[in-house]
Amino acid sequence: MLEHKRLFIDGAWQQPSGQGFAQVINPATQAVIGQVPLGDERDVDRAVAAARKAFASWSRTPSSVRAGYIRDLVEQLTARANDMAAVITAELGMPVQWCRAVQVEGPIAGLAQYVEIAGLMDQVREVGNSRVVREAVGVCAFINPWNYPLHQLIGKLAPALAAGCTMVVKPSQETPLHAFLLAQMIEAIGLPAGVFNLVSGPGAKVGEALARHPDVDMVSFTGSTGAGVRVAQAAAPSVKRVCLELGGKSPLLIAEDADLAAAVRYGVQDVMINSGQTCTALTRMLLPASRYAEALEIARAETESLIMGDPLDPQSFLGPMCSAGQRRTVLDYIRIGEEEGARLIAGGAQVPGALERGFYVTPTLFADVDNRMRIAQEEIFGPVLCLIPYRDEAHALEIANDSPFGLSSGVWAGSTERAVELARHLRAGQCFVNGGAFNYQAPFGGYKQSGNGREWGEEGLAEFVETKAIQL
Ligand code: NAD
Repeated sequence: MLEHKRLFIDGAWQQPSGQGFAQVINPATQAVIGQVPLGDERDVDRAVAAARKAFASWSRTPSSVRAGYIRDLVEQLTARANDMAAVITAELGMPVQWCRAVQVEGPIAGLAQYVEIAGLMDQVREVGNSRVVREAVGVCAFINPWNYPLHQLIGKLAPALAAGCTMVVKPSQETPLHAFLLAQMIEAIGLPAGVFNLVSGPGAKVGEALARHPDVDMVSFTGSTGAGVRVAQAAAPSVKRVCLELGGKSPLLIAEDADLAAAVRYGVQDVMINSGQTCTALTRMLLPASRYAEALEIARAETESLIMGDPLDPQSFLGPMCSAGQRRTVLDYIRIGEEEGARLIAGGAQVPGALERGFYVTPTLFADVDNRMRIAQEEIFGPVLCLIPYRDEAHALEIANDSPFGLSSGVWAGSTERAVELARHLRAGQCFVNGGAFNYQAPFGGYKQSGNGREWGEEGLAEFVETKAIQL
């Protein structure tokens, strides 16, 4: 049991004001594996006050010194990567086959780049009679989801530290344990008190209190579009900066001249990794009508070959859903898809008997999906892939962009040049071409209802920067 009874505020583990604890459940075993405090508004006030007090000196600390703390944190995370991966597998259910590389090593690489990027804060631009300088936004609140918990936390913390901001972090109720481990590392590197504060608790209480707090200068939120809208509303009266990283329903456009087997297998795996609980998952696969039947067979074979099971088994490709609630949501969407007339060609609501314990959902494929169906318009956030036929490329682009979301996209075509041409027509913040990999140095964020912020790389730093014009 990982029992956390205190909150990390002002550089020390402090008794919470909030009463009670949230239990953390291992979604594969349904056993209670830990607990964290249910913080409240008074905890938020104390954490924000500590962050405010620390801001004055932290924001004026030389960028090279701030970069040194980032380097120290990289070392801590690297040394304890196995512990971090074990915690995330236990609280999220992501199989060991993926967890360390995806959930820990990726974020470490993302963090490490800010050792260099911190130096950009010293850049001064001369324009006419002005000197334009960069300064930190101030006290930041970070509200995060559960699906890539360390990745989302580092995506905010790293540029904020580099810029000279201080922060209050609220992890998700489902996966808070990694944030407590990270706080221990922050303590170990001796980051000045108040720069990093951790308050766990419910979104409606701790999250909202942070979003509306008059002494918070910026809120960076990652999560569902509905909660993001509420955060923006709560933040509006104090005119704080709001960075939203929200949901998605991303298309993978497979062109007629694509290597069909490679493209379809990639598309299936992209959705099924982390059991479909990936904001960028390419959950609408657009297939040329001329090759549709062939593609369905490849997709079915690939889906049925993926092993679902115990996250601790190195053979498992998929684990369970993160929570009982998420499992219910996904099963509801499978029922909705059947009612809407989509053709179930793999998976469905049944789970193999051996996996009755744990929040498992069988990888599921729906064929003959009309893009206007709910299963094609709404984010399911589970291992469910919609296969949609198109007539020609114009039709494919029309379907691809017919979505309230615009987080990610993919194109697979016979040549990179042709794929990039198609990518330029897609209204989304990312496009993965012919299986291109995620790049921590590139900006990440959404168009439309997928959000308004950018994380990672230099654009990630820019979110935390105020520019000041000094007229000479
Ligand atoms: P969620 O919106 O339910 O919760 C996200 C966080 O917000 C949690 O910490 C929660 O406690 C908090 N919260 C909830 N209501 C709040 C409120 N009214 N005020 C303040 N805080 C509140 O999302 P989730 O179920 O944890 O995560 C899944 C969602 O996150 C999906 O929609 C997914 O697409 C999205 N997501 C987006 C990205 C991205 O970078 N764009 C990355 C990962 C996940």
